[in-house]
Amino acid sequence: MVLLNYVKSWWKMKQNQFSFEIDAKIPDALGRAGIIYTPHGDIETPTFVVVGTYGNVRLLSPYQFHEIGLQAMICNGFHLSKIDDKIEAGGELSKYSGYDCPTLTDSGGFQVMSFGSGLGKVVSMDKKNIAREQFKAKNKDRLSRVTEKGVYFKTREDKEEKLFTPEYSMNFQHKIGADVIMAFDELTNIGDSKEYNEEALERTHRWAVRCLDEHKKLTLERSDKSYQALYAILQGAHYKDLRERTANKLGSMDFDGYGLGGAFEKEHLSDILFWSNSILPESKPRHLLGLSKPDDIFIGVENGCDTFDCVAPTREARHGKVYTLDGDINLRNAEFADDYSLLSPGCECPTCKSNYSRAEIRKLLKNKNGEKTDEQVREDNQIALELLTIHNVYFIVNLTRQIRQSIINENFFNFRDSWLKRYYG
Ligand SMILES: [Zn+2]
Repeated sequence: MVLLNYVKSWWKMKQNQFSFEIDAKIPDALGRAGIIYTPHGDIETPTFVVVGTYGNVRLLSPYQFHEIGLQAMICNGFHLSKIDDKIEAGGELSKYSGYDCPTLTDSGGFQVMSFGSGLGKVVSMDKKNIAREQFKAKNKDRLSRVTEKGVYFKTREDKEEKLFTPEYSMNFQHKIGADVIMAFDELTNIGDSKEYNEEALERTHRWAVRCLDEHKKLTLERSDKSYQALYAILQGAHYKDLRERTANKLGSMDFDGYGLGGAFEKEHLSDILFWSNSILPESKPRHLLGLSKPDDIFIGVENGCDTFDCVAPTREARHGKVYTLDGDINLRNAEFADDYSLLSPGCECPTCKSNYSRAEIRKLLKNKNGEKTDEQVREDNQIALELLTIHNVYFIVNLTRQIRQSIINENFFNFRDSWLKRYYG
């Protein structure tokens, strides 16, 4: 009886506060347009979710966030775990961040697994897979190791190892209070063998059970808080049998949604998503982790993904790269010094609507002349980077909004073909 009441009250909390509805589907494909309902607002899908690593998006104010049509933000669980008490005291992440929108956090797994592994997305536990140059630079030993219990890790400053477990990940993500939280999974590296991928996948399944148990316990203990949806993460590299196995296993468990992750070559993206999403329950939302190139978004949508996140639109803006309908350009190049056209023809982002030209923004970006003080030059650069961030993020958000409309209008494939043809030339 106690167990029945437990299940009933957990189910009620979940149903009342998080759900997904499908509005339209792409014929003969897995893609759909839908709405994710969360305690902090609705998310019309497909859509791009911007990355706000520390709880805010660099160079993008909350006001601009809403003005350019962003609906949700994903934050870094590991970084925010250090201030989880503060965030909890100040309300939930949505309120703490000031963006007042649906939020997501990741499990923190990527950070702890990457300690000591060098640069970039290198998380392999096998030293052979890490480029020699990266080791030569400053890494003698890995600072993290995966065990059944969790991941032991330390930073370069730490003397003692710490243990990061699935239960710990659930605890700090509950304190942070995002609408969608992620289960703790083991990421593998592109150089890892199939055997290692299989071992890691099985461990991820066992960790998923522990995450779900802890999540249910915390949800009931904290019933005065908003319901948080828990997504499982699917790994399995580019192996069909592993992808199908994990989709069957995690798809049959009581998760609210799914995150598709893993290290693989771009050429495998379409297959991986098709294998996974053909099996996962249609009624639950799916998030594609870490990809936002237009062709990847089209592949993701066609194969049943609903939300996307990536640091690229904001990071590339900070390097002067600008998205345009005719392909990307770099404003730092001399050819734009006298180009008084808009960043992208017909763009309706606040930067382009204010008639800022390529030449004008380039001047702010490259401003080094002796007339101005260093501080003035820094301010000009800052303005240029803000203008470019607004444009790039809007460009991707607007693309996903148009894709959503094309699904509703039953015009997805025509829209895709003409859009990609112009963009990639
Ligand atoms: Zn624009």
